[in-house]
Amino acid sequence: MEELLLAWFGRNGRDLPWRTTRDPYAILVSEVMSQQTQVERVVPRWRCWLDRWPTIEELAAAPAGEVIREWQGLGYNRRALSLHRAAQQVAAHGWPDDLTELPGVGLYTADAVACFAFGRPVLPVDVNVRRVSERTGLSFSPAAAQGLMDLGKTVCLARLPRCEICPLAQACPSRGRRFEPSRRQGPFEGSFRQRRSAALRAVLAGSRPDDKEALASLARDGLVRLDGEAVSLPE
Ligand code: SF4
Repeated sequence: MEELLLAWFGRNGRDLPWRTTRDPYAILVSEVMSQQTQVERVVPRWRCWLDRWPTIEELAAAPAGEVIREWQGLGYNRRALSLHRAAQQVAAHGWPDDLTELPGVGLYTADAVACFAFGRPVLPVDVNVRRVSERTGLSFSPAAAQGLMDLGKTVCLARLPRCEICPLAQACPSRGRRFEPSRRQGPFEGSFRQRRSAALRAVLAGSRPDDKEALASLARDGLVRLDGEAVSLPE
């Protein structure tokens, strides 16, 4: 079955720019950006990021405030700070064997960097890979990782899988099933996330936002610095 998947991937795989590199830094950036942001939005931002900081050492040497500024529009700003700290850790000590030691790097991201950059024999299991594996009951090798990701993203959809065009259909016990909608994240509009985002934008623009609660929350995460009435970006 894996050969059928790989053949399908050869014809239908998404053309993502980080799939042509084995640079662990470039792959880490793509994975962290993609954690909670759609891949279509990530592609141009990933290119800009690497134009600005082509190496992990250059990112490590950048001021935190500039890293937060460059991240704007991607959401979940804590990822920017974690990525910056991870870069500083790697610049100082090299890549750790256990990549989950890096700030903001969970098991999936660690496995993705290990597989795609370092060629280690691990299958990174994201939500798409897990769905295809669970529905088919098949096990796959690390070589199938990107094919599984794309199949889960474009064919084996969460609610209404497109089994009629699936290369694994003949071996899949879930073929033709429909699935309950999964719980979606609450709306951004009116949320505390939105208030935090607006407060951070104001700080980036050089003003002090009125929303004290959002400011305090940003300060706790290290995204801004509060000093009495003064508010600034971290250095
Ligand atoms: S046959 Fe349908 S349920 Fe099974 S893996 Fe393919 S798309 Fe998913």
